[in-house]
Amino acid sequence: MSKRLKPLDIFKYLPKTNCKICGEETCMAFAMKLIERGVELKDCTPLFEEPNYQENKDTLIAILRPPVQPVRIGTGEKSVIIGGEEVVYRHQLTFYNETKFFVDVHDEMENKELTERVKFVDEYKLFRIGEYLNLNGIAVRSVSKDPTKFANAIKEVLKLTKMPIMLCSFDPKVMKAGLEAAKDRLPLIYAATLANWKDMAQLAREYNCPLAVFSTDLTMLQSVVVALRKTGLDDLVLDPGTYGGENIGRTLNNFTMLRVAAIQASNENVGHPLIAVPATVYLEADKGVETAWNETIVGAMLINRFASLMVIHNIELWSHLALQTLRQSIYQDPRIHPSVEPGLTVIGNPDENSPVFLTTNFALTFYTVKSDLEQAKIDSWLLAVDTEGIGVESAVAGGQLSAEKVADLFKDTGIEDKVKHRKVIIPGMASRISGETEDATGGWTVLVGPRDSSGIQKFLKEKWTAEATA
Ligand code: SF4
Repeated sequence: MSKRLKPLDIFKYLPKTNCKICGEETCMAFAMKLIERGVELKDCTPLFEEPNYQENKDTLIAILRPPVQPVRIGTGEKSVIIGGEEVVYRHQLTFYNETKFFVDVHDEMENKELTERVKFVDEYKLFRIGEYLNLNGIAVRSVSKDPTKFANAIKEVLKLTKMPIMLCSFDPKVMKAGLEAAKDRLPLIYAATLANWKDMAQLAREYNCPLAVFSTDLTMLQSVVVALRKTGLDDLVLDPGTYGGENIGRTLNNFTMLRVAAIQASNENVGHPLIAVPATVYLEADKGVETAWNETIVGAMLINRFASLMVIHNIELWSHLALQTLRQSIYQDPRIHPSVEPGLTVIGNPDENSPVFLTTNFALTFYTVKSDLEQAKIDSWLLAVDTEGIGVESAVAGGQLSAEKVADLFKDTGIEDKVKHRKVIIPGMASRISGETEDATGGWTVLVGPRDSSGIQKFLKEKWTAEATA
């Protein structure tokens, strides 16, 4: 595992003037935030502008370089950063830059299909546990091997989206035409190989774009990277090949070996983000749902095995939902419980007779309950207790969900002024605190609801009568 920097390791190279230009009160505060990636080194402008700090600046840039180099693709708000990781396993710290999903199109595709696929990527948006999940870019492949056709397909894509693109051709002439069409959009060049690396390196320098390197032979892959790094290129992305079926084991091994070598063995030559191409399952045959299913499985395995960028072919909602859910789970910071603001949420148009529900501020629980109430069109009041983002069962066991906290929440939200009745429905898994809650809230009746919020509608039909609200 790479050595984790401490604030003092950074502080000693900063100007130490506490000038506050960076927005922090002190240089030490800046150093602490820098380690957590809450600020960027360039925010300390004196370091970059004053010549006497030159040496310190160079030292800081070197020591702050993560074992896996971060690489930016695209421009503007939709640009993405891949790589930048410091650990092999998520529990050791966190992963910083989640896997980015690119969907492919090609230059022999009918315009209607190309438009449909680009729009799918551009408009895809899914709300889950407090955040929108998105697709991230388009991979434009040269199938025709014709520079003009490739450039035209790229222009068409750029008209439809501001998302980042990667240009896919092993032919430098075709790539040059593509780069001319996309030169203002910082595309990823895919890819340099043993056969073409000199020409591709020249293009990467000329257009100042990141460059992918492809070889299924890891020794060869590393040799090409060494040659490219000697030319001054560092914004590199590695593709060790993606194979499904019987060869999936080899693919997983290759990805793992590269990431472990980069982080645990500090091998800078493989310290670059990794590309996976689950779309290769379509090279054998396109059997519709079966092939999309295989692609999804390969994609899921490689999200778990350090893929920084992934090229997907299918545009099935179920497939992307599965991949994005997995990505969200793996790339959430394990040091922070996903949570929402505690307090009162209004569902629909509740009145003084509407039911009051209680849950925790663990984001997954909260949004599940909220969504179940909304879908069942239950006008109601939803209270979220501050359990530090911990779910119901664990929060009851750990004391984060207690009768006292519920009583405080009642006061803070003024729920007593919003309803005439004095009944609160608590989650089935919090039944242990029902008696204490009745005592602490002084006059409220606690109804123990279902263990799963999908059962709320049935529960209300059976237990929530007009008499109960009187
Ligand atoms: S701008 Fe630089 S020198 Fe000034 S307080 Fe921030 S870190 Fe220190």
